[in-house]
Amino acid sequence: MARLLPAALRHIADRYGGDASRIWADGSSGAAVARRFLAFDGVGPKIANMAVNILIRDFHIGLATPMPDIAVDTHVLRVFERLGLLDRLEHSQLRSTRDKQGLRLQLRARELSPEWPGELDWPAWHLGTKWCHAGRAPECGECYMGEVCPRVGLSLDSPYGSGT
Ligand code: SF4
Repeated sequence: MARLLPAALRHIADRYGGDASRIWADGSSGAAVARRFLAFDGVGPKIANMAVNILIRDFHIGLATPMPDIAVDTHVLRVFERLGLLDRLEHSQLRSTRDKQGLRLQLRARELSPEWPGELDWPAWHLGTKWCHAGRAPECGECYMGEVCPRVGLSLDSPYGSGT
């Protein structure tokens, strides 16, 4: 961070005349803003998409289409799989399989929410961090998706059970 922050400030000074808000200038699409964030050293696809989704959702910045993708995150992926929104890939533990599943998550979010795939980002992340835990039993009885969730991959035989 000690190296990346000065580099980010230099990039804002050089590329945007010192005005960070020009990254999301009027008329910009969500995809374009994500692409601009990716130009910062240390920013990858997850952070780039997440940053744009936060700009839209929390700072009410109006952006044009195409809108940003969902940020591929371990909590989001787990929740999509347990909710039955994305089939698991069980055939391999190789890294390429994890990468493919991340891309499949992005494509699935585009299918489900074509106007703004990244809108699914925060709700899924919130479920994953509040109730749908990875390392301990999910709290399905508390989760607001408990009534409809098929709990894919969870069973009474699993180390974590269904959490109900
Ligand atoms: S109901 Fe349970 S398995 Fe389904 S999303 Fe909520 S915590 Fe996860």
